Amino acid sequence: RAKENGKNNFQFFTADMNELMAKKMRLEIGLRKAVINNELELYYQPQIQVNTGHIMGVEALIRWNHPKMGIVSPAEFIPLAEETGLIIQIGTWVIETACRQAKEWEIQGYAPVRMSINISARQFQQTSFVDTVMEIIENTKIDPQYLELELTETIVQDPVYAIPVLNQLKEMGIKLSLDDFGTGYSSLSYLKSFPLDTLKIDRSFISTVNESGKDAAIVKTIINMANSLDLNVIAEGVETNEQLLSLKQDGCDEYQGYLFSKPVKAIAVQELLQKCMEEKSLGPIVEV
Ligand code: C2E
Ligand code: MG
Ligand code: MG
Ligand code: MG
Repeated sequence: RAKENGKNNFQFFTADMNELMAKKMRLEIGLRKAVINNELELYYQPQIQVNTGHIMGVEALIRWNHPKMGIVSPAEFIPLAEETGLIIQIGTWVIETACRQAKEWEIQGYAPVRMSINISARQFQQTSFVDTVMEIIENTKIDPQYLELELTETIVQDPVYAIPVLNQLKEMGIKLSLDDFGTGYSSLSYLKSFPLDTLKIDRSFISTVNESGKDAAIVKTIINMANSLDLNVIAEGVETNEQLLSLKQDGCDEYQGYLFSKPVKAIAVQELLQKCMEEKSLGPIVEV
């Protein structure tokens, strides 16, 4: 009887696995079509200067409007896109679309803001990556000082490969940001040897900054270190005024999170930029 149960459990397990694999295959087939059928869209989340409430930049975040499943999260399809190599095509589309949008805002007369773009490991490792970025800059005529690439610690794990590539990007005038800082195999030597401009403190530390003394200490330490190294430091995932207040006390430069705005469509960013120019809506200002 036990044996029978075991067998049943095993069958149940494989049925689950089959379902998972079938889902993955449907996603992969869908993702190939998504690129052709214009189902991909960029949302933008403002990055706010803590002391003034001004919008300093926006982070481009991809969304997939699946005809049947609705909006699919990048957390679900970016890993699949990496696995299948589709990320090359998708990633290039992201850079091109974001740069064209930034140029569009410039033409419309908004004060310039940084455009931050997430780059995946496989994209970065393409030998043609630097050329692709250069070509997009030339075609869209975006000012490279307002272009920032967000890289994760996994990307830069191979410093022998990464450092020359990063230096080439820097020579083009592009800004470089280390995303999700503190979650990867962080090595402080990265900070010394990589030509970085910005550190982004991972949301996992920010979400409990007011509850956990340890997280508060980590956040404070990252901010101090970034300030000493002359790096711009951005806190991700700020949802409450209390979190913003402690970031301000710690001397954090910028924040992004639902407290100011969720990632929104380009048209909604324009409204925020407009208000920012009229100095009407500055983000939640906290007094220390
Ligand atoms: P990430 O680059 O660390 O982006 C930050 C994520 O935190 C975004 O999730 C954003 O919507 C979310 N977030 C921002 N503020 C808050 C907040 O206050 N509370 C909470 N709970 N979440 C907040 P999203 O858009 O789902 O993206 C997830 C990840 O997918 C990104 O993490 C990034 O690694 C990846 N990704 C997104 N777009 C792209 C892309 O165009 N290319 C590549 N390669 N990866 C992308
Ligand atoms: Mg990011
Ligand atoms: Mg991040
Ligand atoms: Mg993160």
